[in-house]
Amino acid sequence: MNVWRRLSGPRRALALGGAGALVAGGLVTLPVTVAHAATQCDVSYTTSDWQGGFTATVNIKNIGDALNGWTLGFTFPDGNQRVQQGWSARWSQSGRNVTAQNESYNGAVASGATVSLGFNGAWSGSNPKPTSFTLNGVTCNGGTPPTTTPPTTPPPSTPPPTTPPPTTPPPTTPPPGQKVDNPYLNAQGYVNPEWKAKAESVAGGNRVSNNPTAVWIDRIAAINGTPDSSSNGAMGVRDHLNKALEQGADYIQFVIYNLPGRDCAALASNGELRADELPRYKAEYIDPIAAIQGDPKYASLRIVNIIEIDSLPNLVTNTSGNPGGTAMCDTVKANGAYVNGVGYALSKLGAIGNVYNYIDAAHHGWIGWDSNFSPTAQILKDAAVASGSTVNHVHGFIVNTANYSALREPYIKITDNVNGTSVRQSKWIDWNFYVDELSFAQAFRNELVAKGFDSKIGMLIDTSRNGWGGSARPTGPGATTNVDTYVNGGRVDRRIHAGNWCNQAGAGLGERPKAAPEPGIDAYVWVKPPGESDGSSKEIPNNEGKGFDRMCDPTYTGNARNGNSMSGALPDAPISGAWFPAQFAQLMQNAYPAL
Ligand code: BGC
Repeated sequence: MNVWRRLSGPRRALALGGAGALVAGGLVTLPVTVAHAATQCDVSYTTSDWQGGFTATVNIKNIGDALNGWTLGFTFPDGNQRVQQGWSARWSQSGRNVTAQNESYNGAVASGATVSLGFNGAWSGSNPKPTSFTLNGVTCNGGTPPTTTPPTTPPPSTPPPTTPPPTTPPPTTPPPGQKVDNPYLNAQGYVNPEWKAKAESVAGGNRVSNNPTAVWIDRIAAINGTPDSSSNGAMGVRDHLNKALEQGADYIQFVIYNLPGRDCAALASNGELRADELPRYKAEYIDPIAAIQGDPKYASLRIVNIIEIDSLPNLVTNTSGNPGGTAMCDTVKANGAYVNGVGYALSKLGAIGNVYNYIDAAHHGWIGWDSNFSPTAQILKDAAVASGSTVNHVHGFIVNTANYSALREPYIKITDNVNGTSVRQSKWIDWNFYVDELSFAQAFRNELVAKGFDSKIGMLIDTSRNGWGGSARPTGPGATTNVDTYVNGGRVDRRIHAGNWCNQAGAGLGERPKAAPEPGIDAYVWVKPPGESDGSSKEIPNNEGKGFDRMCDPTYTGNARNGNSMSGALPDAPISGAWFPAQFAQLMQNAYPAL
């Protein structure tokens, strides 16, 4: 499988003039004067600004009757102001109008109580504060602008909370055939015996071999089992489901991975179906899988499907007009193979009462820029309503599948600056709005909800190989000489470039699979089975459709999509999906948390 890599950030931001010094924003307090409604409110809006970005803290004081659910509204004075990532509310923006709706846990606000929320935003030109706020449609200042000069005391520079309160409602056990909110919660995962045996073939592998990993259905033949392939093995979908029942597992994870023209921007995991073979994808791949998963014999299992890795985001970032866009990505965009294929998979599989679909949503180093963040959410939405599907067939999304992006960068926040220069300007971050997968996953979840997905969707993060422990792991922030020393010295992701994706040297196993670890996150999962190669480091002839991608060659000096950097790949790797014991040994050695 391939995963890339968006490379250059929004360069236009470079054109911004002026010093990048941290500007403390002012404070506007707008007392309510409205008498009619039971809703009355004081809103304070403070910001901490730097060149191009800001963090806003909004406090709503309820000075009316108790509230049970609220919606805050305001209008940005400037057309370039944007909400990027919010917390403690469901944020959305349309034009200049911003709306924040309560989360389930903070909808009830007693009379006299204050609720605090916030967001990270972007601006260019200037960053004026909104002058009026509404709560449930009632103007908080009665439409009268404040007559007194707002206090000028700089606000405390409160960083955004990294652990906002939980958004996941407590679990309930639904009647049979109905889906639970989080299929991972209080549930035992299926351990794939084929992967377990490979893991235990390496010294020390038994320390992790009982973790659930996903079963990849990476070709039509894998439905019945592929004893002769390099990846996976003789067990087919039914065998795995039967074994799951035998294990007493509650959930089992499959990867649906066989789109026409698969992996359109790379070569290592090109699949078996040509770009124009959507009918075969439906009839010979999805239909038979749906028939097996829908067998009532398996109704007690929560069947999780990870839908089509690397597909839809490629239509945004790797079509022509983008650096390194490919003809294959153009073709599958133009003929609708990905959008309609994903829609078909969602509608067929999602119609089964105990099946949970999570669509792949790339990772922060791919779609963390404003130029591709929202467009990717939009294409995911387009696919979710294609081929007879609806958003209700989507239970959530997964990020970082088979990638290496760190879960958390403990020593770098995106709001940090060094001597007035935002870390977003460092070479490594390259204008991205996110530094790690957790912050990205939570923000992307909000964006997806704003695009029309259910507000209860949950995110998964593939943590199988993003541990970055071992002796090279930094133990504190980098030197504040400049943004590059600061970021490069402090980042735990030790890759040469965030666009590198193949068999990364120095990586470790990440968080072990875990349910509901953070707000908005259904689980940390191991979807890429650690120790299975991403692609061969040299050309290896094979009849499995696997190509040779130079991003897997440690001597390769890169291309436009990884900033012309070295590939960072381990040497002597077998073709994608095949067992790579040396990589597995290194992943264990550099595990974080350590084994
Ligand atoms: C390969 C698949 C394999 C999967 C899991 C992908 O890169 O193309 O054949 O099943 O990785 O290792």
